[in-house]
Amino acid sequence: MSNEIKYFDIAYNSIYDGQGIRVVVYFQGCNADCIWCHSPHSRLKISPILFNEEKCIHCGLCEQVCENNVHTVTKDKHILNRKNCNYCGKCILACPMTYDFLDIGVLSLPTKTNTVKELFDKLSPHLKLVKKTGGITLGGGEALLQSKACKELLMLSKSFGINTTVETSGLLEDEYYKGLDGLVDTFLFGMRFTTNYKENDYTDRVYRSYDLLSKYNSEIIPRIPIIRGHTDTNWYLKKSLEFLQKHNIKKIYLNPFNENIKHYYNLSGIEFKFENDKMSAVARGKMINFFKNNGLEIVNKKEFMSEKKFSR
Ligand code: SF4
Ligand code: SF4
Repeated sequence: MSNEIKYFDIAYNSIYDGQGIRVVVYFQGCNADCIWCHSPHSRLKISPILFNEEKCIHCGLCEQVCENNVHTVTKDKHILNRKNCNYCGKCILACPMTYDFLDIGVLSLPTKTNTVKELFDKLSPHLKLVKKTGGITLGGGEALLQSKACKELLMLSKSFGINTTVETSGLLEDEYYKGLDGLVDTFLFGMRFTTNYKENDYTDRVYRSYDLLSKYNSEIIPRIPIIRGHTDTNWYLKKSLEFLQKHNIKKIYLNPFNENIKHYYNLSGIEFKFENDKMSAVARGKMINFFKNNGLEIVNKKEFMSEKKFSR
């Protein structure tokens, strides 16, 4: 029997999530609490209902059909009480600005549930297209939290000769990193020494996770997000360098900052707390110089996309 999988998005031609052109499944749910997260709606087990205020015409039809009083609509205001929502979807079907565009309308429920088999059947035509130029990436959220679904999707992909990549923050308990033998060509390893200033120091966890993944015959590419005030601090840079040197890693990938970070906070009603969202260029320069001056090679996007390393 096929396992259930929850995901909140699929990208069919991504060039940011591994080598080559990737079909990316973004799994719902994450255990990290990164203050710079650009998909805050992915953290919970089910995403809150998303609402695009700019496109709302204040017709009030959603208020009329919702049995849980989530919507309050007046001539010039639309307030959502999301905690009452049971994800029934009635307001989405009633909304005249949504029903032609169910995934991108004024209202949307991004979390989808399928069996892995159903999802794989849906992805298959796209995977055939990228079989020679890329592969599948399991991202999130944190894909490995849905351990059974993750492994089943990886097994199906491998049985069709698809290159596989899994993204992880490095912050999971041991059990989630077990049983992946032969299923993963590449891990994109997040190196989250902290996710929310220095109060949370996850250094031991990151080292342990890396050691567990090192036991597999997989490539591990360390990725550090460029985050002003966090990953560019002297503390974080020193931690990163120690880690890379201890594991004899010569190359790193610096994940560009998403300039559109506020988008999903606005849509989901989740509070935006990150203050340095306009300063990523400063962080980028500092981080590149630091790593280069310490003998590290920065993997650029062109190399990251190179097809030559594909193993199946
Ligand atoms: S999904 Fe259902 S419960 Fe949630 S706001 Fe819409 S109608 Fe109300
Ligand atoms: S039904 Fe759609 S357009 Fe009308 S008030 Fe609700 S969200 Fe806005």
